Amino acid sequence: MILRQLFDQDTFTYTYLLAAELSSKAIIIDPVNTHTEMYIQLCRQLNLELAYAIDTHTHADHITAIGELRHSTSCVSMVGHESMADCASSKFSDNDVIEAGNLELVVLHTPGHTDDSYSFYLDHKGFKAIFTGDTLLIRGSGRTDFQNGNAYEQYDSLFQKILKLPGDTLVYPGHDYKGWTISTIKEEIDWNPRLQVESADAYSELMGNLKLAKPKMMDVAVPANQSCGKIG
Ligand code: FE
Repeated sequence: MILRQLFDQDTFTYTYLLAAELSSKAIIIDPVNTHTEMYIQLCRQLNLELAYAIDTHTHADHITAIGELRHSTSCVSMVGHESMADCASSKFSDNDVIEAGNLELVVLHTPGHTDDSYSFYLDHKGFKAIFTGDTLLIRGSGRTDFQNGNAYEQYDSLFQKILKLPGDTLVYPGHDYKGWTISTIKEEIDWNPRLQVESADAYSELMGNLKLAKPKMMDVAVPANQSCGKIG
């Protein structure tokens, strides 16, 4: 099993490169356009054939590399069914399975941060992991106040889907701003302050009181990502 967690220092974004083994097909999750060459180089060094470049959601803080990667590696680019990005090769929906070699990623629709937010669940020979995008962060959760975000939907995505996974499932988030890298479902249930709520109403109130500034790149990033990373 190959799993590389790559970090974009400018936007605190995690990108994941996954493959069953060396010299097989690979999937990249949430690539950032300023690192396209590095991803291609890493695939070359590990002798991986990039089969899929996928985004967990339409990002507001960085520009995706799925379009550039499709162009330069002829991989398939995919986004969620609800996404406005009609430039992707195809779209996934809830319960789809994305296969690359012996690796199977189960697609879970987990709206709330945005309406097109997805998580990807992997169970490979007992190695269980979920790539949560901005739905579940380590000791946090993604904001729900723009891009058709909805705290009630996020509550359901968290409590009805993600947190029902086995407690020892590793959690790989889409961002981290404090230095965390990996967590587990059990650790987040126990220690994530956003999850210590009694009801969906309480969660919505908590999320409604965050008073966050708009992401710096939002006006550029959202339209660019709806064009698979094309600017202008
Ligand atoms: Fe986001």
